Amino acid sequence: MITTDVQLRPQPGSVADLNAQPGFGAENLPYASFAPYGEDPRLGVRIGNKILGVAAAVEYDGRRSQALVNAVLGQNLDGLLKAGRPIWDELRAMLTQQVTSAEAASSLEVHDLRDVSLFMPFTVADYVDFYASEHHATNVGRIFRPDQRPLTTNWKYLPIGYHGRSGTIVASGTEIVRPKGLRPEPKGSPTFGPSRKLDIEAEVGFVIGGAAPQGEVKLADTENHIFGTVLVNDWSARDIQAFEYVPLGPFLGKSFATSISPWVVPMAALSCASIEPPTRDADLAEYLDDGSARASGLDISLEISINNKLVSRPPFASMYWTPAQMLAHMTVNGASLRPGDFFASGTVSGPGRDQRGSLLELTWNGRDPLTLTDGGKMCFLEDGAEVVIRATAPGPSGTSICFGEVAGRIVPAT
Ligand code: CA
Repeated sequence: MITTDVQLRPQPGSVADLNAQPGFGAENLPYASFAPYGEDPRLGVRIGNKILGVAAAVEYDGRRSQALVNAVLGQNLDGLLKAGRPIWDELRAMLTQQVTSAEAASSLEVHDLRDVSLFMPFTVADYVDFYASEHHATNVGRIFRPDQRPLTTNWKYLPIGYHGRSGTIVASGTEIVRPKGLRPEPKGSPTFGPSRKLDIEAEVGFVIGGAAPQGEVKLADTENHIFGTVLVNDWSARDIQAFEYVPLGPFLGKSFATSISPWVVPMAALSCASIEPPTRDADLAEYLDDGSARASGLDISLEISINNKLVSRPPFASMYWTPAQMLAHMTVNGASLRPGDFFASGTVSGPGRDQRGSLLELTWNGRDPLTLTDGGKMCFLEDGAEVVIRATAPGPSGTSICFGEVAGRIVPAT
């Protein structure tokens, strides 16, 4: 194990020194699946505007374990997710040492990001989508159930979620085809056709590693299973959703596409982003009670741009439920956990009008259109619209941890 000789201050001439860039310094080191033109995909790690081949870096280090060599040979993160926390820590310590070392610089496999393609960073196993923002859940309640209390009675007792469709989780940049379905009409029967209320959901996603065949991952053990984070745009057809969701919940209005960013930021890079979650309003069951646990909220600041105009800055710090609680909840009934499982937080919305994470909320279901850069008005996404979600979090010593971006463009229904 290489855990004691890590230095974060890059030596002159090291890869981190030569490629210094805010947000992607040696304190971040997010992973991706990449390939130089004409070559096979492989696991990479980002420093500045460069990407390093991970298998080559491991090969270079004379002290690596065979388990680590095996974990990084594949096209993406799958092998590493399976390997578990000790191997994750061994690899991160090794990479940190190498990118900050002048001696290693000439021996690493380094590519300019402009010369490579990026792919899905891992093979998605099961996908769960939560609903963990109190501000989002309250806004949605006010919009769809104005005659009732906005939060349902269960909301403060458990993190509400549902099982999504892992096969339609797609890489950032994938074009999003406008979905078709049954749309409610003000009078009479629903009609079938392209969604008229295509929306975004700005979320943060969590990538799972290590198996828990019997489920029941305790709060204190969640850090051994949450490998890292990505940005998520959980595209949503509000009209299809509104007609179909009673009584079983989201279905075709959600399952056509969910985009994720190519960079998986390790949880180890977010140690300085830990914060206390909001005060709990209800007594929690023991498996969810984090009153005595260390701060497990995350101070991640999101930005949503539509057609190059910044329309919202959702704060993940305002989320009521933490990722640890979400993972404890989704396994408490004995449901098994596999490497490659994935859960998303649900739409991130803060208390302010300009902190809402969906167009449903930003335009109040179409009542208050947004004005875009070209002067045009938008209530929901039109064909050709391009959505980009970015995020940063605080890093050590005043640095920042950048998540990169998840982008997608709407193309007409087929
Ligand atoms: Ca969602």
